[in-house]
Amino acid sequence: MNFKIQFHEPYRSSKCDTDVRKLLLNKKASLFGFGDITNRNEKIIKKKFGFKDILFTNSCTSSLEIAALLTFRKNKNEVLMPSYTFSTTASSFLRSNFSVKFLDIKDQTMMPDLDIIKKNITKKTGVVVIVHYAGLPINDLDKLKIFCKKKKIFLVEDAAQALGSYYKNNILGSFGDLACFSYHETKNIHAGSGGMLVVNNKKFKEKAHFILERGTDRRLVLKNLKKKYSWVTIGSSFNMTELNSAYLSYQLKNYDNIIKKRKKTYEKYLKFFKSNNLEKYFYFNQNRYKFNYHSLFIVLKKYSASKFIKFLKKNKIQCFIGYVPLHNSPFGRKIHNKKLLNTEFYSKKIVRLPIHNNIQLQDIDYIKKVFEKFFF
Ligand SMILES: *Cc1c(COP(=O)(O)O)cnc(C)c1O
Repeated sequence: MNFKIQFHEPYRSSKCDTDVRKLLLNKKASLFGFGDITNRNEKIIKKKFGFKDILFTNSCTSSLEIAALLTFRKNKNEVLMPSYTFSTTASSFLRSNFSVKFLDIKDQTMMPDLDIIKKNITKKTGVVVIVHYAGLPINDLDKLKIFCKKKKIFLVEDAAQALGSYYKNNILGSFGDLACFSYHETKNIHAGSGGMLVVNNKKFKEKAHFILERGTDRRLVLKNLKKKYSWVTIGSSFNMTELNSAYLSYQLKNYDNIIKKRKKTYEKYLKFFKSNNLEKYFYFNQNRYKFNYHSLFIVLKKYSASKFIKFLKKNKIQCFIGYVPLHNSPFGRKIHNKKLLNTEFYSKKIVRLPIHNNIQLQDIDYIKKVFEKFFF
């Protein structure tokens, strides 16, 4: 179908192309990774966001797999996570022998809250995974962090969509023992495919690198601490290649401007929602903290998402629902057999609207007209 307004267009710039070309022209440079560009990107991230230990990976999925390998404990092998998330949030932990317990969401924020998490904790709970849906934090994130610490439960942030968002004055990715980010094409900035693991718990620092580097301590050789490297743990091939780092480099440097552009679009939407009193017809987020404007979703009060999406498509606006809840998916049904009522209800009411770097403000005027046609 030919849309007038696409839901998403991956960030592209000739500056990214130039950076990749420069790398290719340098015949001595490694294309594999751990090179100058990756190191420079690391410095940019640390300076911008204050993270202490970060590892660039080839996807958020890989970051989650590292997190699962790091946090597995035999006597505490249960992980709690929302059912309302992406498939690999769950599969990465299942692969590391965890049993996954899906949580319901609280309300239209599409995330569980601290009460729901607390109610589901058992003696076996070793990890809680929170998903910063749409780049937004859950309520009580600070209290959750304290709670997990007290209970000796590891907190993992699936921050795939959340680069540059905050809870109060703290950056998302700084709350968990570990935090997983995505540089996939569908996110604000990307490396084609790519990801990042933030290690906040010192205990995991060294091992995280070993896992990323095929289970070896090659890092110690690179740092001149050892002559030959050895196999030291179960690992895999998880690192970001230098080519992908080169593509990402300009976007990291320019990230403030990329967010600014998204903010303009997002705020133009909010303005027409408010001026038309559309709160009557749907919920939308009015974020309190600094935000990366990754995604704009609405949760309809009366109509179903499918009905509204059909109408938008007829008017050449491409929109999507959110996730199909994992516990209702063909594989999820095999590992979970309880109803999660809020998740089932709200996932049929949510519509994600177009927001990306190439949207023009006139496009939002057009979307406004289409909304008015539907609701009035
Ligand atoms: C995009 C996304 C992922 C997967 O990221 P990849 O980099 O594609 O592996 C995981 N979790 C959430 C919440 C996501 O939005």
